[in-house]
Amino acid sequence: MTKPILPADLAETLDPATILVRGGATRSPYDETCEALFMTSGFIYDTAAAAEQAFAQEGSRFVYSRYRNPTVAMFEERLRLLEGAEACRATASGMAAVFAALLCRLRAGQRVVSSRALFGSCHYIVADLLPRWGIETVFVDGRDLGAWEAALAGGASLAFCESPSNPAMEIIDLAEVARLTHRAGGILVVDNVFATPLLQKPLVLGADVVVYSATKHIDGQGRCLGGAIVASEKFIKDDLGPFYRHTGPSLSPFNAWLLLKGLETLELRVERQCRTAAAVACYLESHPKITRVLYPGLPSHPQFELARRQMKQGGSLVCFDVAGDKGACFRFLDALRLVDISNNLGDSKSLVTHPATTTHSRLKQEERAELGIGDALVRFSAGLEAESDLLGDIERALKQV
Ligand SMILES: *Cc1c(COP(=O)(O)O)cnc(C)c1O
Repeated sequence: MTKPILPADLAETLDPATILVRGGATRSPYDETCEALFMTSGFIYDTAAAAEQAFAQEGSRFVYSRYRNPTVAMFEERLRLLEGAEACRATASGMAAVFAALLCRLRAGQRVVSSRALFGSCHYIVADLLPRWGIETVFVDGRDLGAWEAALAGGASLAFCESPSNPAMEIIDLAEVARLTHRAGGILVVDNVFATPLLQKPLVLGADVVVYSATKHIDGQGRCLGGAIVASEKFIKDDLGPFYRHTGPSLSPFNAWLLLKGLETLELRVERQCRTAAAVACYLESHPKITRVLYPGLPSHPQFELARRQMKQGGSLVCFDVAGDKGACFRFLDALRLVDISNNLGDSKSLVTHPATTTHSRLKQEERAELGIGDALVRFSAGLEAESDLLGDIERALKQV
C-alpha cells in the first residue's frame, strides 16, 4: 500500500512553501523520492466480492481513473492543503472546472448573478449556455456593491466572479459579495486564477467554491492543461461527486504529475513574477507612450486599497494602453524580441496578449468598451527572465509606437 509522506496532523500546520513540496504526496512500497506516476485507467480486484464491495463503498479504494487516480489524488490533496479547504477535485482544464462547478449545482428555473468582467469562455458559459438551459443570468459591474445588492435582492442560487478580472484588472470585494450572496440564499463561486492560491484566499473571505485553471501559474511552464475545484466536503461530495463521476471532466494522471512538479516551485515563481510585474508596471507608468497602467499593486489602481486588503501582492499580470490606435499597439507587440505574443499567461516565459482581437474578440465592441478593453490594451504576463532584459525589450519595442 502507499503511505503519506507527511503525518496528517503536521500537514495542516505547515507553511505554504512546505506544503507545496511535500503536501499530499504518498509513497509506494518502492519508497521513491518523486511522486509516482500511476498511468492506469483502471484497477483490479482479488475477488469478485472485493469488486462488489468497492462499488458498494464509494471512495474506499481506487476503482477507475475517471473517478479517482492515485497521482491525481496527490495533486488534489496538495492543492487542498494549500487552499486550507475541506476538499478538492482536479479537472482536465480550467474551463472544465468552471463548467462542472456551476452545472453540478444549478437547475432550470434558478438564477445566477455574475460580474461582467470575465474570461471569454467563462462569459460564454454564463451568457450563452446557462440561459439555453433555463437558468436566468444577470450581469453586474463587479466593482459596484450597490449593483450586486440590487441584483441579488431578487434571490440567487449562485454568484460568480473573477478577481482580479482578466484583463480589466477589476477587483471585487469578495467578503462583501459573499455576504450579499449568502443573504440571497446562494453560494459564491470565485475564479482565482489571476491571484493564484498564494496571493488570495477566497474561502477565508467567505466564498464557497474556488476554481482554478492549473494551466496558468500552477503548471506555469507551458506544458499541460489542468484545473481544480476547491470547496467544502459537502459540495465536493454531494453536488460535484455524481456529476464528476458520470460526466468525466477528470484530469489525466500524467498532467496531474506535471502539476505536482509545478506546485513544488509555485511560490518561487510567483514571488519572482510579482516582483517583475511590479517593476514593469512602475516603468510603464512614467513612460510617455503609455496612457494607462492597470496593476493592483500600484497606488494608481482605482481599487488599490481593496486589492491591498484582500491580496498579498499585486500579481504577475500588468495591463496597459499604448498611446495610439490598434496599429501602434500591434507595432509595439511585433517589435518585442524577447517577450512572446501568446494568449496564455502565468508562464515562465513572459507573454503579451492583445485581448481585443484574441481572448475577448467574442464580445461585441460596446461590451468590450464597457469593460475597458480598447484596441490599444495590452496584457503582459511576467515570466522568469531577468527584469533588466525585459525592461530593455519593452523600451526598445515602445520606440516603434
Ligand atoms: C485561462 C483561464 C481560464 C480557463 O482555463 P483553461 O485551463 O484554459 O481551460 C479560466 N479563467 C481564467 C481567469 C483564465 O485565465
